[in-house]
Amino acid sequence: MLLEIITIGDELLLGYTVDTNAAHLARELASIGVSIVRRATVSDDANDIASAVREALDRTGAVITTGGLGPTSDDRTRPVIAELFGRDLVPDEERWDALRALWKERGRGEIPETNRTQIMIPRGATVLTNRHGTAPGIWLEDELGRWCAMLPGVPREMRGVLADELFPRLTARLDGQQRVVVRSRTLRTTGVAESKLAELLGPLANGIDGLALAYLPGQEGVDLRLTARDLAPDAADAALTGGIAALREMAARYAYAENQTDLASVVLNECDARGLTIAVAESCTGGLLGARLTAIPGSSSVVIGGVIAYSNGVKKGLLGVTTESLERHGAVSQEAASEMATGVRRRLGVDIGVSITGVAGPGGGTPDKPVGLVWMAVDVRGDVRTHGSRFVGDRAEIRFRATQAALDLVRRMVAG
Ligand code: ATP
Repeated sequence: MLLEIITIGDELLLGYTVDTNAAHLARELASIGVSIVRRATVSDDANDIASAVREALDRTGAVITTGGLGPTSDDRTRPVIAELFGRDLVPDEERWDALRALWKERGRGEIPETNRTQIMIPRGATVLTNRHGTAPGIWLEDELGRWCAMLPGVPREMRGVLADELFPRLTARLDGQQRVVVRSRTLRTTGVAESKLAELLGPLANGIDGLALAYLPGQEGVDLRLTARDLAPDAADAALTGGIAALREMAARYAYAENQTDLASVVLNECDARGLTIAVAESCTGGLLGARLTAIPGSSSVVIGGVIAYSNGVKKGLLGVTTESLERHGAVSQEAASEMATGVRRRLGVDIGVSITGVAGPGGGTPDKPVGLVWMAVDVRGDVRTHGSRFVGDRAEIRFRATQAALDLVRRMVAG
């Protein structure tokens, strides 16, 4: 099936909103065997929307739009496309009652009359229920079988309507056809440079059995994305499972998870499985490590707390870092990191203490201790390991990379 995507909104053209909807649609649709042959973005202007949709329908006869379904005057998608299909708009009073009840339920009082635009449905259209917002999606089809699906602009709502309503419709249409799909899976690695990783992968470095391999370096590490093209769904899944297993074997200790999984959640799972508790002692990251860990639901069974030990006074007073270490080696040193990890472990009575101390910049660097130098330590029941690194990037990147490296040190120590 060939299809075009049109994303609608001035804010997209002006660059204030990044068009994540088009990317999400493209990925998801490719995975069920729909080929996106063209993507366009247009303003909220009625003529621009009309000409883009008309041209797309003439070319492929299958269009998905996102945005412009709201209750305000800049939301013109519905009337414009209804007119293209030669349909008038009719109020759906049942939907109005439901919307009114929803507003009351959410404590917003009486629903404004302007919201009535959202219950104006093109005659003969199918409503694609939106369980995450007030603007329903709409499916319009003409007698030649040409169709346009209008989805909301808010990404969470768009994803919901796509999954709940549009996906099942499209897969039903594809059923019985000889389908080939584009599917991907990603193996996440950290603590290893892209070139070293390529070396480790050896003969697999350029792809595996017809699967394309992409190296995607980022702050969290290097993601390895395998993509299967032009295979039947089952064959694509089987090839990807085999491919990921082969990559995992070669990337060995650097591989920590698949797809979007955060390293913090891997660490929490490893600790939880062993009944281990964690506390953090953070200097230059100022709580970022604790924030990453506690962002994961269920973290309270593992994370006990932490100390933001920004000043030397707190490092000494709360964590027991010695004056001698601070005077001889400085606050950014292997010694200070080690004492911070042990200090927080004892002070909070946990199994694992993790510490980070470094120079996040942009100022404060010296020839001895340049910007980006970070020391970290992990103390697992008295077994202490330290790691020093020189991270590149701006202040935010250095701080994030430091938390990633510290989490990886915990993962390796805990999982052996
Ligand atoms: P609603 O009635 O729920 O507001 P809508 O269909 O009217 O939905 P828009 O008003 O076009 O949606 O957009 C709502 C918000 O969704 C925008 O402010 C923008 O932040 C976001 N958005 C819209 N289109 C996109 C897109 N293509 N990618 C990412 N975000 C988008």
